[in-house]
Amino acid sequence: MNPPFFSYCPHCATPLERVPVGGKVRPRCPVCGYVQYLNPTVGVAVVVLKGKKILLGKRAPNVSYGGTWCIPCGHLEWEEEVREAAIREFEEETGLKVKIAGIVAVHSNFHNPQQHTVGIWFSGEVMKGKPQPGDDLVEVGYFPLDNLPQPLAFPTDRRVLEEVKVRLGKGERIAH
Ligand SMILES: [Zn+2]
Repeated sequence: MNPPFFSYCPHCATPLERVPVGGKVRPRCPVCGYVQYLNPTVGVAVVVLKGKKILLGKRAPNVSYGGTWCIPCGHLEWEEEVREAAIREFEEETGLKVKIAGIVAVHSNFHNPQQHTVGIWFSGEVMKGKPQPGDDLVEVGYFPLDNLPQPLAFPTDRRVLEEVKVRLGKGERIAH
């Protein structure tokens, strides 16, 4: 699939040309000089454990990857602090207010060719609330790490879940 290049300059609406800039072909505006650099955005997810179970959410049928399961997650907004984004997204999707305890994993996500992201999986401790699906989710629950619901939405979630299971099996902490 083609990268999500613009056809027109977002500043002056001139058709963009494709020229080498900094070693890669990129859209550039011949009038104002704007260059479109494709940069990944930041995704945040929160790993909440109860013993050897993890909280997962089922995605609503009308959102991307509908009907699949994921570690509750979302996108960092402009001007938003990264841990606050994780807390906000988790509360919107699960009804649970968490405290961020540490970082479980950081990975690049390439599964969506139109939107590459860098995912940060935090660990969270529930401070208050009862699990209640909201926003993009229709179901939330705790599932044993060795018997996860399928299908999972994201390959990097699968990798993180495997890593968490192995660490817990060795009696290690899951966050640093
Ligand atoms: Zn322009």
